[in-house]
Amino acid sequence: MMENCTGNKFIGAHVSAAGGVDQAPLRAKEIGANAFALFTKNQRQWVAKPLEAAVILAFKQNCAKHGFSREQILPHDSYLINLGAPEQEKLEKSRQAFIDEMQRCQQLGLTLLNFHPGSHLNKISENECLAKIAESINLAHQAVPEVIAVIENTAGQGTNLGWRFEHLAEIIDQVEDKSRVGVCIDTCHTFAAGYDLSSATACEATFAEFERVVGMRYLRAMHINDSKIALGGKVDRHHSLGQGEIGWDCFEYIAKDRRFDSIPLILETIDPEIWPQEINKLRQFHLQTLA
Ligand SMILES: [Zn+2]
Ligand SMILES: [Zn+2]
Repeated sequence: MMENCTGNKFIGAHVSAAGGVDQAPLRAKEIGANAFALFTKNQRQWVAKPLEAAVILAFKQNCAKHGFSREQILPHDSYLINLGAPEQEKLEKSRQAFIDEMQRCQQLGLTLLNFHPGSHLNKISENECLAKIAESINLAHQAVPEVIAVIENTAGQGTNLGWRFEHLAEIIDQVEDKSRVGVCIDTCHTFAAGYDLSSATACEATFAEFERVVGMRYLRAMHINDSKIALGGKVDRHHSLGQGEIGWDCFEYIAKDRRFDSIPLILETIDPEIWPQEINKLRQFHLQTLA
């Protein structure tokens, strides 16, 4: 059956939640997605009004109606949050905001929360920053049940940590509840950080390295983006699939490999107009493996 064939590859995009989070599943459905990412509040503001009961209900109803389970939905936190902030005041503010983000996920019945680990701003060492990030996750775990902290790897731009797999491993190592921490690998960030993904052979080596350093069991989501920046360029500039420096071989590899089944695979590519085609092409690659 068709549904069973596509059911274990969750492919979608980061859709707009304009007009309310309950609109996001409808937009995902429109582009032929069976996964989606969203912001549960304005990503450029510190505080947001609480989610209204009617909106929460509508979100849950729309997800159920269109077949989106919690495993297929990847909320992303605000860009302002720095869980490794060197200064206490900013750190406290970030931790409060992160807990609020986790609570919003829980209210919506969601269990994954994707976030960028943090930046040391040249004021503390890498190790001090990683320890603060881990402690921030521990505090959030104590404050909110169930939700899994999904650390996104970064391109290594500026003083952002999380671009080396060792950073991710170090954070996970210091998190007390290992069942509620995971990783989101962004292909653009991985490539910009210096891990080659531009051929099937390169992908094989990069994911073997990820398995060795972090472990595939921690992989809870992926962002599927091509890169405008060359390998190791340390700058975060997404591109449409096949139009950047990575190329389709990588995305075909991910679509066909069972290790990337049953987790949200989310496009953050630059042209939403072609998301339906990008999703369809990934799905076709996956279907080839079932033929
Ligand atoms: Zn990303
Ligand atoms: Zn990015």
